[in-house]
Amino acid sequence: MLDRIRLELATQGAAPSMPLLRNRIVEMEELQDQARTALEKLNDAVDKLRAPALRLGTLLQTLPNGRALVCVNGTEYVSNLDPNVPEASLETGTRVLLNEAFAITDVFGFEKNGPVVRITEVLADGRLRVGNETGISDAIVVRSSLLLKDKLKPGLDLRLDSQQRVAVEIIGSSKRLDRTFTRVEPIPWNAIGGQQEAVQGIRDSIELPFLHAALFRRFHHPVPKGFLLYGPPGCGKTLLGKATAHNLRLQILQETGEDRPEYFLSVKGPEILNMWLGESERQVRDLFVQCREKAAEGHLAFLFIDEAESILGTRHAMRAGTSILSTLVPMFCSEMDGLEPLQNVVVILASNRADLIDPAILRPGRIDRKIRVRRPDKGAAREIYGIYLVDDLPLAEPREKLIEAIVEAHYAPAEDNRFLDITFRSGRHDYLHRGDLASGAIIAAIVERAKESAIKRSISLRAEAPITRQDLLDALVKEYRENELFPPSDITEDWLKLTDFDPSNVVRLSPYRTSEHGAFSAAV
Ligand code: ADP
Repeated sequence: MLDRIRLELATQGAAPSMPLLRNRIVEMEELQDQARTALEKLNDAVDKLRAPALRLGTLLQTLPNGRALVCVNGTEYVSNLDPNVPEASLETGTRVLLNEAFAITDVFGFEKNGPVVRITEVLADGRLRVGNETGISDAIVVRSSLLLKDKLKPGLDLRLDSQQRVAVEIIGSSKRLDRTFTRVEPIPWNAIGGQQEAVQGIRDSIELPFLHAALFRRFHHPVPKGFLLYGPPGCGKTLLGKATAHNLRLQILQETGEDRPEYFLSVKGPEILNMWLGESERQVRDLFVQCREKAAEGHLAFLFIDEAESILGTRHAMRAGTSILSTLVPMFCSEMDGLEPLQNVVVILASNRADLIDPAILRPGRIDRKIRVRRPDKGAAREIYGIYLVDDLPLAEPREKLIEAIVEAHYAPAEDNRFLDITFRSGRHDYLHRGDLASGAIIAAIVERAKESAIKRSISLRAEAPITRQDLLDALVKEYRENELFPPSDITEDWLKLTDFDPSNVVRLSPYRTSEHGAFSAAV
C-alpha cells in the first residue's frame, strides 16, 4: 500500500509532505475496513444459504428446567429452550423451530392443516381415542391447549397436527347412527303375557348377579354380560328387553336405594350393515363406546341389537358382503371381552334365527345365556288378550267371556282357522292353524282393530257402542289376512322362518287358500 502511495507522489513530481501522507494512509485504511466488512457479510450470506433448513416440531409438553418434549417426524426429543423464547408462548400443539442441536429457538403458533379424524372415545383423563372413517387405524392423542376446555364427544371430527399426536381443532360433528339413548317406558313384568319362562330366565341371569354380586363372587360363579332372546317375530323380544331395563333399575333401587337410570340403546342389525369398508365396524364400536360412556355416568346401559343374525351370523349363513361380516364378529367379540361384567352395561341380542348366530358370540363370558321366547299357546294368549282387553274399556259382555270367546276362536283347530299348508318330505300333508302362528303382536293388533270398529260404530250411532265378540272375531280374520309379520309371497323359505319346522323335513309350505273369507260368526 505504502509503495503505491510513494509511486503516486513520485509521479506527481514533488517530495511527499508528511501530513498529506498521513491523511492518505488513514483514508486507505478506512477503505480497507469497509471492504473487510463487506466481505464478511458476503461470507455470512453464503454460509446461511449453504446451511441445512431448521426442523419444525410439535410441542407435546413443557418440562421443568427449561426443557420441553417435542415430536419431530414421529420421534420424540427432550429439547432445551432458548431463554429468549417466552415460556407463555409454549402451548401444547404449537409448532416450534429447532436448531441443529434440537433446541427450541422460536415458536410458530398452531398449524393450519393436518389430517382429520373422528373421536371414538373420550378417555377419563381427557385424552382422545380417534380413528379414521374406516375405523381401522385407531390412535390415542392428547388435546392441544386450544381444546382443553371444550366438551368433546365421540362422533366429533377433529384436525390433528401433522405429527398426528395432538388434536388441534374441532372440525365439526359427523353423523352418528341415527338413534339416541332413550328412557324406556315403564314395563312391569306382568305387562308381558305368557312368557313366564323367559322372564324367569332373564331375572336369573341378570337381576340376581346385579343384586347379589358378592354372593356370585363368593361362589366364583361367572356373571353373564348379556343374553340372547330368540324366537319368532312379534312375540315380545323387544318388550322383554325393555322390561329388563326397567325392572332391573327398580330392583336395584329397592334393594340398594341407589337409582341408576336406565338407558336403552336399540338398533336393528341391518341398520349397521354398510357398504363402506370398515363403516359397520365403526358403528358397532360406536355403540359400545356410547354404552360405556353412559355407564361411566352412572346409568344402567342396555345395548339391544335386534335381528342380530344379520350382522353376527356365521359366515356360512351370510350370502353377500362376507368380507364385512367376517370382521364384524371378531370385533364384536373383542368389544364384549372388553366389558367388565356388572359394570352397568348389558348386551341383549334378539333374533328369529338363533341358529345362524356365530357360536363365537355365544361363548361363555360373552352372550352365554340363550333365552327362548315362544309363540303364545292358548293359556298365554288368554293372558295377553287380558292385558289388552282391560276392565275399563266399554265391553259388550263380561270381560272374561269375551276373552274366552276370542281365544277359543283363535285357537280352534277348525278348517276355518287353517292358515298354512305344509307338505313334508315323507309325503305327509298337514295344516297349521291361526293359533299355531299367533304372537303377542297379532293379539295386540286384533284388540286394536276391534276397538276401531267399536269407535266407528259409536261415531255413526252417536252413542257409545261397546266392543262386541263379533268385533274381535272380524278383527282376527282381518289381522291374519293383512298382518305385516307374515311374508307377502308364497316362498317356502320365508314361511319356514316363522315356524319351528326343520327345513330338511319340509318340501313346501305356503298360505292355505280358503274360500277367501274364513270368517267366523259370533255363534261359533
Ligand atoms: P319381537 O321383538 O319379538 O319381534 P316385540 O317385542 O317388538 O316383538 O312385540 C311387538 C308388540 O307386540 C309389542 O310392542 C307388544 O305390544 C306386543 N306383544 C308381543 N308379545 C307380547 C306379550 N307376550 N305380551 C304382551 N304384548 C306383547
